Amino acid sequence: MQARFHDAWAKLPASLQAALEPILSANDFPAMLTAEQVKTVMSISGLDDSALAFALLPLAAACALTPVSHFKVGAIARGISGTLYFGANMEFSGTPLQQTIHAEQCAVTHAWLRNEASLVSITVNYTPCGHCRQFMNELNSGTDLHIHLPGRPASTLGQYLPDSFGPKDLDITTLLMDPVDHGYKIAETDALTQAALDGANHSHAPYSQSHSGVALETADGTIYAGRYAENAAFNPSLPPLQAALIMTNLAGKDCGAIRRAVLVEGSQPMLTQWDATKATLAALGCSDVKHVTF
Ligand SMILES: [Zn+2]
Repeated sequence: MQARFHDAWAKLPASLQAALEPILSANDFPAMLTAEQVKTVMSISGLDDSALAFALLPLAAACALTPVSHFKVGAIARGISGTLYFGANMEFSGTPLQQTIHAEQCAVTHAWLRNEASLVSITVNYTPCGHCRQFMNELNSGTDLHIHLPGRPASTLGQYLPDSFGPKDLDITTLLMDPVDHGYKIAETDALTQAALDGANHSHAPYSQSHSGVALETADGTIYAGRYAENAAFNPSLPPLQAALIMTNLAGKDCGAIRRAVLVEGSQPMLTQWDATKATLAALGCSDVKHVTF
């Protein structure tokens, strides 16, 4: 089992430990439970789906990187497929706070990057901040997304974000998590660059059309790719580097041990991710960053 789960694991009820042990004991546990695993864990532990998501929160929060706040938030996003995706807040020393990832953004992006079609609910250990409510308002599940918080009845995003402003106010009909393929091509065949291109091709940038993707290579040679996710309110947009860092961290890899990175975006985009990507990666100790354009 990954060391970061040890403390949270020790506090789980024995019945849940027994149910989760075959899944969590794998060192490459991908911070998610497939629909099949969820069914098995529910049947062994006796928990229903909502209680299981709450019970998993301490494990999700154990994935948090919080050098600034020391405040660990965990989130569990439930996909329409029945799969549960972990998320946690991530902060990076040496970068502006704007580079921070919130737990809800982490769980949502995790589900999106694993090609989940839509979300049914999200379970969080603290009430979602305004930024996250706005971020989730971009999703194709819309204001029907259920939000589960400890000690409160489940409510919808619509109840947490009344009088909302969202993509429909800007006549945007393709929402976050809707399937897209922008069809960009580049000549380079390097696997890391192709992974970043794939991110760009599946990115959500209906406001600027500045599609972009980032791919990171960790010390063991594994590649983690991310896609840009724009938001109708602009500021809650999640850059492609952050999406790639989410996948790196949730896989149990060290975001401070990235060997090589590639950003792929247009040659004359309205917005560029280049400067922010380079600066944040420099703060994480990675200077081998390539900029490839289509
Ligand atoms: Zn938040």
